Amino acid sequence: MAFKIIASQCTQCGACVFECPSGAIKFEGEIYVIDPDKCTECKEAFDTQQCASVCPVPKTCVPD
Ligand code: SF4
Ligand code: SF4
Repeated sequence: MAFKIIASQCTQCGACVFECPSGAIKFEGEIYVIDPDKCTECKEAFDTQQCASVCPVPKTCVPD
């Protein structure tokens, strides 16, 4: 399992990039995307998903 970013809601603030412990979030083309092969859902590192925690837009970083 991995998280994904709902591109239509993303304000492209970039905050999630710096919080991801897996380096899974990148700016590709014109949107921020989560690499499902790198996303660990923050398991073992944090109790909550850091991208979802830091994102200012509710329900924009969600389970894929
Ligand atoms: S859930 Fe965690 S590992 Fe996955 S993209 Fe978000 S911050 Fe990165
Ligand atoms: S924190 Fe949320 S709004 Fe900001 S770039 Fe990431 S997904 Fe988009």
